[in-house]
Amino acid sequence: MTKGKTRKYIFVVGGVISGVGKGVTTSSIGLLLQSHGYRVTAMKIDPYVNVDAGTMNPTEHGEVFVTKDGDETDQDMGNYERFLGTSLSRDNYMTTGRVYQSVIQKERALAYKGKCVQVVPHIPYEVIDRINSACNKANAEIVVIEVGGTVGEYENILFLETARMLKIKNPVDVLFAIVSYLPTPSKVGEMKTKPTQHAVRALNSAGIQPDFIIARSDVALDAKRKEKLALFCNVIPESVISAPDVDSIYDIPGNFEKDKLGEKILKRLKLKTRGKNAKWKEWEAFARKADRVKDEVRIGVVGKYFDTGDFVLSDSYLSIIEAIKYSAIAQGKKAKLVWLTASTFEGKKAPLTELIGFDGILVPGGFGSRGIEGILNVIRFAREHKIPYFGICYGMQLAVIEYARNVLGLKDATSREIDPKSKHLVIDIMEGQKENIEKGNLGGSMRLGAYPAVLKKGTIAQKAYGADKVIERHRHRFEVNPEYINMIEAEGLVFSGKSPNGTLMEIAELPTSVHPFFLGTQFHPEFEARPLAPHPIFSAFVKAAITRGKSK
Ligand code: GLN
Repeated sequence: MTKGKTRKYIFVVGGVISGVGKGVTTSSIGLLLQSHGYRVTAMKIDPYVNVDAGTMNPTEHGEVFVTKDGDETDQDMGNYERFLGTSLSRDNYMTTGRVYQSVIQKERALAYKGKCVQVVPHIPYEVIDRINSACNKANAEIVVIEVGGTVGEYENILFLETARMLKIKNPVDVLFAIVSYLPTPSKVGEMKTKPTQHAVRALNSAGIQPDFIIARSDVALDAKRKEKLALFCNVIPESVISAPDVDSIYDIPGNFEKDKLGEKILKRLKLKTRGKNAKWKEWEAFARKADRVKDEVRIGVVGKYFDTGDFVLSDSYLSIIEAIKYSAIAQGKKAKLVWLTASTFEGKKAPLTELIGFDGILVPGGFGSRGIEGILNVIRFAREHKIPYFGICYGMQLAVIEYARNVLGLKDATSREIDPKSKHLVIDIMEGQKENIEKGNLGGSMRLGAYPAVLKKGTIAQKAYGADKVIERHRHRFEVNPEYINMIEAEGLVFSGKSPNGTLMEIAELPTSVHPFFLGTQFHPEFEARPLAPHPIFSAFVKAAITRGKSK
């Protein structure tokens, strides 16, 4: 186990139920400490055996967030990047599978020098090594580590053991916060602390005493419940932080600040504030503006990863939702997103005229052939009716297919992913990817992470970025078939962004003389959008949507 420099570790764990907002709490704690002048990084530990989140269905696990260096991670990593305003790397993410994989690889390389390799301590040591190397890479003084799952589960016990071991070695440098839920059963009418007491006891039985209890509930906690939790959970009442439901997640850091959480954490870690920095003021202004905007810009998002049982979950597109919101807020608007299920737009009776009511249509990334004909109908309608259209990854590829079918007249134009037997594969498999598929090498093998694109002067993309070259994150196996590029461009679709060697089409758009905004990106700009720095392409799309809204 390598020993890091003196640094502070904050572990955030969850109690009672999943979905209590550990990710946003982790991000908010990071932001608070950052605004006190500290260099902070954040990490996520997922208890799954999957090596990364790339092989999981988004309706089950939420969005796959891609880091700059091409790791397919959990959506919480996106929250950290957005709140902290930094880019994280693959070192900031780990899963049970990833940890075991490297321990086993090391064992095979005799790295343990003949020792018996054991679940404890070797797995926790590996986790600690990974935490320290992420801190070294980020040059961080404080790391906030979110442990996935809920206390009391079998799955994350080794990660709690890791945290306990780290604390024993560095008593003043390690701090624990449990984000727990306090229900108010409607028939009882009183907020209940007992489930949280049990969660803290479960944490105690893993050898961990929380320093802070972040109490999630419908409404703010009263003094009586704070005292009760303090008494039964071994903390002082000031360490019980009220976290009532809020309309906007951007208000959460401010709410914590009202409870002086930042200062309390610093005090507990024996650190001093370095004075509130300018970023905090900017964040507060942003959060205030987000609360104030009322006037809506209506965006229809056509996708297929919404339904889970009887519920509609938009988590699969979290970064896109956030990116649209930031651009809308910056332009004084509130983004109203409407989820449109792709398959409902298939067939002759497709309710396409409903689309007229939207200020803009967005088609996000996706995989496979389900719902595709519906999406193609939507894209055609948006193009022909001059509704601002933004396609991301698959949304760009499908825009190219739609154009090839209905403008170039190649009726069976498609992607190899949809119908490999078609004569006109205007979207085809990328070089090298064929082998991956044939060999079943499907984990972490797409074209992933940051790659540059060179922009064509005078296009929507180039003007929006105000730059000639950009670097954006990718996640795809297919590309615009080079054989069709000239043919497509001759009919008016402009490839305004290309890889530096000119072979890979990164952005497709129609000139503004024919359509107010019809643009697709092969990359995922949503991963670079930040609350305090909205993404230029999203902003250009939202601007076009606002203009349409005004003219309706
Ligand atoms: N399925 C497409 C590809 O692999 C698009 C991927 C995506 O939208 N992320 O190229």
